[in-house]
Amino acid sequence: GEHKDQQYNSVTTPIYPTSTFYWNSLESHSGYDYTRSSNPGRKALEESLAALEGGAGCVATSTGMSAVHCAMALFSPGDHIIAPSDLYGGTFRLFERFLKERGLSFTFVDMTQLPAVASAFTPQTRAVWIETPSNPLLKVVDIAAVAALAREHKAVSLCDNTFLSPYLQRPLDFGVDMVLHSTTKYISGHSDVVGGAVVTRNPELGLAMHEWVKNTGAAPSPFDCWLALRGLKTLALRMERHSSNALKVAQWLESHHDVTAVNYPGLASHPDHAVARSQMSDFSGMLSFQIGDTALAKAVAMNTRIFMLAESLGGVESLIGYPTLMSHGCMSEEERVERGVHPNLLRLSVGIEDA
Ligand code: PLP
Repeated sequence: GEHKDQQYNSVTTPIYPTSTFYWNSLESHSGYDYTRSSNPGRKALEESLAALEGGAGCVATSTGMSAVHCAMALFSPGDHIIAPSDLYGGTFRLFERFLKERGLSFTFVDMTQLPAVASAFTPQTRAVWIETPSNPLLKVVDIAAVAALAREHKAVSLCDNTFLSPYLQRPLDFGVDMVLHSTTKYISGHSDVVGGAVVTRNPELGLAMHEWVKNTGAAPSPFDCWLALRGLKTLALRMERHSSNALKVAQWLESHHDVTAVNYPGLASHPDHAVARSQMSDFSGMLSFQIGDTALAKAVAMNTRIFMLAESLGGVESLIGYPTLMSHGCMSEEERVERGVHPNLLRLSVGIEDA
């Protein structure tokens, strides 16, 4: 998907910071007419992401959340969606507090329990939303099994692949129809841009997603696409380092006397370790853990030296987050506890520093 510059032979994809493109005549133009619809750098990013995920279509969006909303535009009032009980707080908020008011209905289930997924289908079910590993508990969903259940019920399956990137997991290979990314995270990798993408198995769905972005204006800027493309060049190296660092940190935490639980799919003690090994080539830099009580967890969050206390993840620098007040602050206390997001839970995005 990389577009090499044919005019001056620049080895990188040039940025076209233009809102519009002049026409050669009323009958012909370059293929680009207006940047809300498309832009050469955005197209390069879309083709790169489609190639990496093994998809036929891709649309880049302004943020990960606009990618999620873009995918949800396929569904209409009355449609029912099955989603994981443990998922990114912003996606939960969009589903539960916004789309529900507009006529969609949702059932949240623990997707590591296949019988629970199977019994959540209704005649109105149109989609199954997968997020694996999940945010913030790092549960691992058996993608092939859930995608097969969706197919049996003629429902679309979608997988948020933000925590791993296509370098570590390619959900389309396991049968899902659509993959989503917050490219803000590992794809871009340097905490300097927000963006998103939807990759589709079939080209028609890809075109439908393009139309949605064109109609709603949820397009990324040329510069943001260029940053994401630049991030992709080092994706492999970063993911290898994030993964090896996170495993060491997880093992260290597991041996710590104040830590009561460590959630990292790369640990042999993780309940979904076998599924993780079967669908992920490594385990990425995300982990969470429970420590002592709420006061101790808050004290740890506020007293790290290398890790910065910040939202987000997937950048080269290590971040520590407190899901109760940060990524999952939009849930009520009851909604959090029901899902296992306890007030002594901390989340780490392990960077690429020396472990
Ligand atoms: N999906 C997951 C798993 C996330 O962690 C996030 C953000 O943290 C998003 C989607 C939303 O992405 P963005 O913040 O780029 O809108």
